Amino acid sequence: MKRILIVEDEQSIAELERDYLEISGYSVDIKDNGKDGLDSALSKQYDLIILDIMLPELDGFEVCKNIRNEKDIPIIMVSAKKEDIDKVRGLGIGADDYITKPFSPSELVARIKAHLSRYERLIGTSESKNDEVKIRGLLIDKNSRRVYVNDKEVILTTKEFDILTFLALNPNRVFSKEDLFENIWGMDSLGDIATVTVHIRKIREKIEADPSNPQYIETIWGAGYRFKV
Ligand code: CA
Repeated sequence: MKRILIVEDEQSIAELERDYLEISGYSVDIKDNGKDGLDSALSKQYDLIILDIMLPELDGFEVCKNIRNEKDIPIIMVSAKKEDIDKVRGLGIGADDYITKPFSPSELVARIKAHLSRYERLIGTSESKNDEVKIRGLLIDKNSRRVYVNDKEVILTTKEFDILTFLALNPNRVFSKEDLFENIWGMDSLGDIATVTVHIRKIREKIEADPSNPQYIETIWGAGYRFKV
């Protein structure tokens, strides 16, 4: 089932959108401010985002820009003001579509369907097995950036996904924390090497049956981490 995130502070509109989308077979989450919307968009896997522009905490322009830095999923911007829509176009912040309020729910659903199918064509469907990494009960789908353990989906953050995929694509090799930091965050990233340890711990909590006795990512004391095959 496709998952859609609605970021909208007007409860009645959000609920109307949700009802129509659920009837159309989508699973829907609602966040009522920009900050929570951005957090969810980055930490969970959605197939499309409906983003209001006038939002408390963080406006839709900022939310859109920040999502775009990390993800290329379709974003449909919504506003009651035509000037806002012109601004979306003008700023080039990476929204895929924009729609003015009030709109008919069926028009919204039609646009969503169009964007989802366009995006699927773009990334290729999950049938292309080349982009899957399968090791024992672990399945990493690089196209949809989804991870399954024993057929059950686990939700990883962007960085957790990147680390796991990097290690799984280079099995049996030991990478130091510095290696991983450079590969995942980039050389000139401001940050702390200790963040690698934190991320590895979180990945284990999500994919391992017993995180203290890991079956996938092993710790090689004094050297780093190794993906076990
Ligand atoms: Ca609003």
